[in-house]
Amino acid sequence: MESIFSDLGTFGLNSNQPLDFHGKAKDEKPVKKEIQAKKTKQLVFDRKVKCPVCDHEFLSKTVKSSINRFERTSLTLRPIYSKIDPLIYDVIQCNSCGYAALNTTYNKISERQIKTIKEQISSKFIPKEEPKDYDYKTALINNKLALYNAIVMGSRSVNKAYLCLRISWIIDGYLETIEEDKKESLTLERLNFIKNAYTGFLEAYETISFPVFGMNQPTYYYLLGVLAFELGDYSHSKRWLSKVMVGEDSQQRLKDKARDVKDLVNQKIKEEKEGQSSEGKP
Ligand SMILES: [Zn+2]
Repeated sequence: MESIFSDLGTFGLNSNQPLDFHGKAKDEKPVKKEIQAKKTKQLVFDRKVKCPVCDHEFLSKTVKSSINRFERTSLTLRPIYSKIDPLIYDVIQCNSCGYAALNTTYNKISERQIKTIKEQISSKFIPKEEPKDYDYKTALINNKLALYNAIVMGSRSVNKAYLCLRISWIIDGYLETIEEDKKESLTLERLNFIKNAYTGFLEAYETISFPVFGMNQPTYYYLLGVLAFELGDYSHSKRWLSKVMVGEDSQQRLKDKARDVKDLVNQKIKEEKEGQSSEGKP
C-alpha cells in the first residue's frame, strides 16, 4: 500500500509523512461537527475566509444548511443528507500557504501551531489552481491536507482519528460515483483510513472526555465496534458492541443499531466457518 499522502506530493509536501497516534498532542478542544449541504449552485455559496496562518483572504464554498435535510447515518456513522453531501465542503484550505482544517476548527490555532505550519508546510507549499466545483476527489485531497496539517501541528489523536474517519466517509461517497472497475484501489485506501481511525480512536480513548465530535461514550463504543467489524476483527467488534447493548446510558436506537451490526458480525463468522469447512471437503 502506498503512503496515504502520496497524492499530496504535487503540493510540494512530504508524500511519505507518517501518521502516528503516539506523538505529543497539543491540547485543543474538539468541536461538534456536521451541518448540512448539496450539489447545485443554489445550495452552495461562497464565504469570505481569512487565513489565520498567512492572513490571505479568499472565498470558501459552504452549504446552505436550511435546504439540506439530514436523513440518516450509515453503518460507520457517516451523515447522509437529502440534497448534497456536506462532507465535500467541510474542510477549508488556504491556497496561499497550505493551511487546511475543518471549518469548525479553522480559526482554533495557536501562535505556536501557526509557526510550525509556516515552517513545515507553507515554506514548501506549491499552490494549485482552485477547482471551480468541489467533488469527492477534491474533498479527498482537501481532507488529506487537513490531516497532514493536523499531524504537523501536533493535534490530538482523537482529532487525527476523526479526520481519518471522515476520509473513509468521503471515500464511501466517492465509491458511489465511480465505475466498478475503478473501485478496487479506492476500497483498499478506504480500509487503510478505517484502520487508522480505529487505531487513533483506541489510542485516544483514555484521554478524552465526552462528548467528542458530537459522540457520547456509547456512540464511541459503537463506532469502535463497527470499525473493528470493517477490519474483520470480530471478537473486539463484539466486545465493543456488547458494551453498547448493555450500557445504561445507551439510547434504544443505538442499541438497535449495535444489535444489527452484531448480527452482521455473527453472519460473517458463520460464513467464514462454512467456507473453512467446505474447503476441507473433497
Ligand atoms: Zn494561508
